[in-house]
Amino acid sequence: MKIHEYQGKEILRKFGVATSRGIACFSVDAAVKAAETLAAQLPTKVWVVKAQIHAGGRGKGGGVKVARSLAEVRLYAEQILGMQLVTHQTGTRGQKVKRLLIEEGADIQKEYYLAVLTDRATQKVAVMASSEGGMDIEEVARRTPEKILKEFVDPLVGITDRQAAALAHGIGVPEASVTRAVEQIKQLYTCYMETDASLAEINPLILEADGNIKALDAKFNFDANALYRHPEIVAYRDLDEEDADEIEASKFDLAYIALDGNIGCLVNGAGLAMATMDTIKLFGAEPANFLDVGGGATTEKVTEAFKIMLRNPKVKGILVNIFGGIMKCDTIAEGIVAAAREVKLGVPLVVRMKGTNDDIGKQILKDSGLPIIAADNMADAAQKIVAAVQ
Ligand code: GDP
Ligand code: MN
Repeated sequence: MKIHEYQGKEILRKFGVATSRGIACFSVDAAVKAAETLAAQLPTKVWVVKAQIHAGGRGKGGGVKVARSLAEVRLYAEQILGMQLVTHQTGTRGQKVKRLLIEEGADIQKEYYLAVLTDRATQKVAVMASSEGGMDIEEVARRTPEKILKEFVDPLVGITDRQAAALAHGIGVPEASVTRAVEQIKQLYTCYMETDASLAEINPLILEADGNIKALDAKFNFDANALYRHPEIVAYRDLDEEDADEIEASKFDLAYIALDGNIGCLVNGAGLAMATMDTIKLFGAEPANFLDVGGGATTEKVTEAFKIMLRNPKVKGILVNIFGGIMKCDTIAEGIVAAAREVKLGVPLVVRMKGTNDDIGKQILKDSGLPIIAADNMADAAQKIVAAVQ
């Protein structure tokens, strides 16, 4: 689960990570009022107007503006609020800005990158830092990988002073600010662990003229399987930022992710779902979604799955790939028939089923009189659906 920057900063503050003062708002008037409220304590009258969407790269897309007067705060708030913000993380359609964060302007001497994340390769928590802050970190990793430093943390010990200092020195934090950087790094690690985050990223972490180190941005990803332990994080959920079909799917306990292709996939098991997508690609087409109906697929679930897939106008055909283990193929076949009737299926449907009761399942599909194309194996199924949509 993702959250907004201003929410991320609320969490950071709880764990002692320094941030700028800011106020989140939903209207232009509220933005100007927020700037006035902050101004009472500002040494210099500089504010930053920041679009709040669940995607990075806002600065480059015109979603972060430095304002030097209240009139400019109003102007930028008007420009940004309601805009369709396109960044490298939103896709080409972009994301409509519905919330703003008004912050006191920071006096940036240097921008760094700092993140704590789960590193799959080493199966450890990694603390990553770079002197190349404020830039797209994937770009830094590609062009100058030597500028990304990593420390892997022993979960029983936690990040040590020595490790945090190695990172701070390694990215070039001036000697006078190293102690403060070490503190921020350790606090971010604690924050990551205690909130069950899978990513806690500060880009940029900045050095200010007075030697202070603070977080200018905050990006979090939380492990969905641990959210039951964190009602305070669930409360941050903003459904406006999530895909409507993905929200609908989650109500029925379906793991669904929308993709860009035109072949809908209905599969049981995440591994099989991924293999199915790979096979579709192998035969030259693109999947329209990832969809795992899980182990306990009922007729109702299968029907919902069909409805969600078909709501996507790009879908020109559906491939059902089922392995009957605990789940019996005849149950799935009944679900498919009921669903196809209920949604009045108008696109080609290829079904491949294997495993428990597959003979009964195939017979049910045959007897239904529906124009279902049967397939023997995965390659056959993928080739048949690719041919059917072309
Ligand atoms: P992102 O583009 O979505 O990652 O948004 P950020 O919050 O990282 O902001 C993008 C860039 O705007 C930062 O890298 C900074 O260079 C700049 N920026 C953000 N806040 C301030 C600020 O308070 N003062 C100044 N001068 N620049 C800022
Ligand atoms: Mn950023």
